[in-house]
Amino acid sequence: MKSWIEIPENSDFPLENLPFGIAEVVPGKINAVSRIGDYAVDLEKLEWFHVFDDLEFNFEGVFSHSTLNAFIEMGHEAHLAVRKKLQQVFDADYFKDDDDDLFVSIQAFGLHRIENVTMLMPVKVTDYTDFYSSIEHATNVGMMFRDPANALLPNWRHLPVGYHGRASSIVVSGTNIHRPKGQTMPAGAERPEFGPTKMFDFELEMAFVVGRETELGDSVKAYEAEDYIFGFLLFNDLSARDIQSWEYVPLGPFLSKNFGSVVSPWIVTLDALEPFRVQGPEQDPQVLPYLKTEGLRNFDINLDVFIQPENESENLVCRSNFRHMYWNICQQLAHHTVNGCNITIGDLYASGTISGPDPGSYGSMLELTWRGSKPISLSDGSERKFINDNDTLIIRGYAEKDGLRIGFGDCVTKVLPANPY
Ligand code: CA
Repeated sequence: MKSWIEIPENSDFPLENLPFGIAEVVPGKINAVSRIGDYAVDLEKLEWFHVFDDLEFNFEGVFSHSTLNAFIEMGHEAHLAVRKKLQQVFDADYFKDDDDDLFVSIQAFGLHRIENVTMLMPVKVTDYTDFYSSIEHATNVGMMFRDPANALLPNWRHLPVGYHGRASSIVVSGTNIHRPKGQTMPAGAERPEFGPTKMFDFELEMAFVVGRETELGDSVKAYEAEDYIFGFLLFNDLSARDIQSWEYVPLGPFLSKNFGSVVSPWIVTLDALEPFRVQGPEQDPQVLPYLKTEGLRNFDINLDVFIQPENESENLVCRSNFRHMYWNICQQLAHHTVNGCNITIGDLYASGTISGPDPGSYGSMLELTWRGSKPISLSDGSERKFINDNDTLIIRGYAEKDGLRIGFGDCVTKVLPANPY
């Protein structure tokens, strides 16, 4: 597809992507946007210009909210209609005439250079669950913390392990996070200590946003689970490893995970990711019938993590891929609801750390440095076992095939020194 908007080579945002987000488009004015190349497409303005009037949905006011929840609630047919309308209006051949009124209006008011807008949290996150669905990650962690010979716990290959997380501290890319303080139990000590974490880590993850609700008591079947998913984001599940290893027994992570998780600002729809479907890893032993899926349920999405020290250049420290996930999104949602747990529009479900098979593809510092025993060298000559104050963490993700590239934009956060207690 060619657009009359110039799209830079290797852009994450061709006309086939059309992600959805929320932006402060001018100071004090917040509304829904899409993106083409280096422009935010102002959906509220396009609605005012009657672009969506001939669709069978009433979008009046829907794009004026400060979150996408109301738009998401309209359902997949409505999302698809907006997507097709944008692909039509921004197609290179749509405006035959340079002084067409709509063309002039869109150019004057409907497009904002991306550097002139501030991207905001795209959804009100109603509930948040974090899975643990990468077999490489679960194996690595099991080897480090438990028994190298029996790294995976007996349940792991039978169900997508997860835990309920905290929605209040999920923030958009560009939000900086203070080093958390908490209790740790240093090796050999008799009593716990209190202070800033010494093992600040990232977790490379992706998350999906739920687009359709269920009633309490209902279960989403694995074969229909994608109908309940609006789209994907990049997700950085910041973690404090020393706090985690002391607090997690027996109920799992708590304060080591809920001090800030960062999402990319654009929600990329399943429609945009259609061309990048791939077969997931073979599951052995066979899963129970309610977890069985058919067809291509994984997605080939390249995922890179960079560390950028203050005033220095970016260092690529991890190159992984979403295709490695052992448990797919359909299995995750089917499992989550099999007991009758209801889900809501705006729920966020994170994948768990996405590690690949080779050491350069491990999705956390814990694994990359093998719990600090193999530090990573950076281009400025410094070393990292974990993340230092004033380091910036950047996750980028994109799918690429036959000349088509669909990306997510950056998921960025800077680690600030701990606040005084
Ligand atoms: Ca996690």
